[in-house]
Amino acid sequence: MKEHARQARAESRIIGLVPTMGALHAGHLSLIERARRQCSPVIASIFVNPKQFGPKEDFAKYPRTFESDSEKLERAGVDALFAPEPSEIYPERFATYVNVEGLSDKLEGRSRPGHFRGVTTVVMKLLAIVQPNFAYFGRKDAQQSRLITQMARDLNLDTEIVVCPPVREPDGLALSSRNVYLNAEERQAATVLYRSLESAKSELASGVRDALQLQAVLQRTLGAERHARVDYAEIVDAETFEPVVRVSKPCYVLLAVFIGKTRLIDNLYIEPNSSNSEELVFHF
Ligand code: AMP
Repeated sequence: MKEHARQARAESRIIGLVPTMGALHAGHLSLIERARRQCSPVIASIFVNPKQFGPKEDFAKYPRTFESDSEKLERAGVDALFAPEPSEIYPERFATYVNVEGLSDKLEGRSRPGHFRGVTTVVMKLLAIVQPNFAYFGRKDAQQSRLITQMARDLNLDTEIVVCPPVREPDGLALSSRNVYLNAEERQAATVLYRSLESAKSELASGVRDALQLQAVLQRTLGAERHARVDYAEIVDAETFEPVVRVSKPCYVLLAVFIGKTRLIDNLYIEPNSSNSEELVFHF
């Protein structure tokens, strides 16, 4: 992979990297499409990273669909696929980790200790191997994208991090490789994440800015779904990921909800309209 990327750099080509864990869906393919508009070659990686799964998490049963993934990537016009083995990425006596302090301990990091340290470490390694001009991540994983942007800045990386909007099913459910764990009833129940984001949006659109009031609306919508168990539902500052009291600057409504045994996340990004700061713009 290093040799391949070195060659592209020698030819002054613009390299784009799209890191994934496979089990590819239209969300992943939207990142590839975006990369293809800016870069050639576009390199995708598939690596189910053991270091970002907790001991009780789904590493062993995480969906692995390599054959159909590589077909999808080829059809999407990806120039190269990097699919290393865990033993190549983490050889014996591997000992160096990257951690974004503070930000990685909140919310997702609090519910999944060590998760983000695993994510930033593997992404740093992928960026070091490929040295792309651009690397593409999904805002569906809002905290992850924020952490990776921070890491790239803090470590003076020559890669520009591009964050892309989430792709959703027609009923609003954000595409996720983990959606295959849902049975038919749970799949129906899973729309509660999107529905609760919609309910927060309606409140905001009618003038509510108080975070506690918004949280109450989220909890009410989520609480009405018997298959749902809320891990967190928070309104946070989009920079610091600290809870806000009022929505007055760019914020995220962040959700992590168990549907049966499957843990799903979603978010709504809110920013003041630049021309009229009383008005908000919503990004699902
Ligand atoms: P994963 O394979 O789940 O690690 O995801 C690989 C990349 O795809 C990450 O940058 C994710 O944020 C992004 N991604 C996952 N789901 C979606 C989605 N529904 N829409 C857009 N990007 C996504």
